[in-house]
Amino acid sequence: MFKFGGAVPILAIVIPCYNEEEVLQETTARISLVMENLITDQLVSPESKILYVDDGSADRTWKIIEEQSQENWYVKGLKLAGNVGHQNALLAGLKVASEHSDCVISIDADLQDDITVIKEFILKFHEGNDIVYGVREDRTTDSFFKKNTAQLYYRLMAAMGVNLVYNHADYRLLSHRVLTQLSQFQESNLFLRGIIPLIGFKSTKVYYKRHERFAGESKYPLKKMLSFAMEGITSFSVTPIRILTVIGIFFLLLSMGTSVYSLVQKIQGQTVSGWTSLMLSIWFIGGIQLMGLGLIGEYISKIYMEVKKRPKYHIDIDQYSFAKENADKSNHSPIGSQSER
Ligand code: UDP
Ligand code: MG
Repeated sequence: MFKFGGAVPILAIVIPCYNEEEVLQETTARISLVMENLITDQLVSPESKILYVDDGSADRTWKIIEEQSQENWYVKGLKLAGNVGHQNALLAGLKVASEHSDCVISIDADLQDDITVIKEFILKFHEGNDIVYGVREDRTTDSFFKKNTAQLYYRLMAAMGVNLVYNHADYRLLSHRVLTQLSQFQESNLFLRGIIPLIGFKSTKVYYKRHERFAGESKYPLKKMLSFAMEGITSFSVTPIRILTVIGIFFLLLSMGTSVYSLVQKIQGQTVSGWTSLMLSIWFIGGIQLMGLGLIGEYISKIYMEVKKRPKYHIDIDQYSFAKENADKSNHSPIGSQSER
């Protein structure tokens, strides 16, 4: 059965917070209600927790978390020493939560993502899914700019061969064993939205409507959004380098055409002196340089992939070791062993 929770799984809801004093009371109240219902329905264990990760907030965020953890059995806090950004704060929370729970749901503190579907997440987990992606039905609550840039981004990532779940951000459920696999990724720029689909395992999607922030302001200004988008591309894809190589080869081929053209012009006497040699060298050397840069880039991208030391596979079921483990256990104990999820 479940690793920690016995008959019912222990759930941890991980919530990164950066200067979220305006929303925390309401967030805890709303999520506690969902949690109580799940426990009453015996879908999750009464040991389940809400884990707030304070990402180096400068306001009263940590104080509120401390107060709440004293008043509310579900609430636990994790305080980071400084602001490390949403993705890193989330990772810290996932790591700590995975040590105490069978499944973890990550959600933003402003509850823009619809928490009524948490029950559906858990039901899907009970059906044997290791990953449940929360996917937005539409982007009607987004600004015109955000909607279009997001769409462009998904297209761009797809073109670069990065497998992302369309309209899914960081609202998702992960089982304990997915989190164990996740911990094998040692790269420091961990782009979760790209990594999770890479891990594999049985997964499904749950659709929901995203609301407006109920209080406070977005902690993701345009600058952070752009750097996050860039991070996503450069930590996953070497396609930009390959494009450079291709452009280089294209220019080199083009230089052959321009060479013929320049020579014909010279023979026909339609040039001033020096033009032909200038034309020949600009196109040819330009092409060679671009191609050379691309070629160096190809080697660098190999180094970059090696340095990441990504795990090469993730085992779903291993009947060989499982059978052996069971045989060992039944040899040593008369009761035998219980299977683990
Ligand atoms: N957040 C964080 N560290 C940061 C920025 C944001 O932990 O440096 C948290 C924030 O408190 C929230 C989540 O990340 O829980 C998403 O941020 P926000 O709602 O402001 O982003 P938006 O929904 O506007 O994209
Ligand atoms: Mg938000």
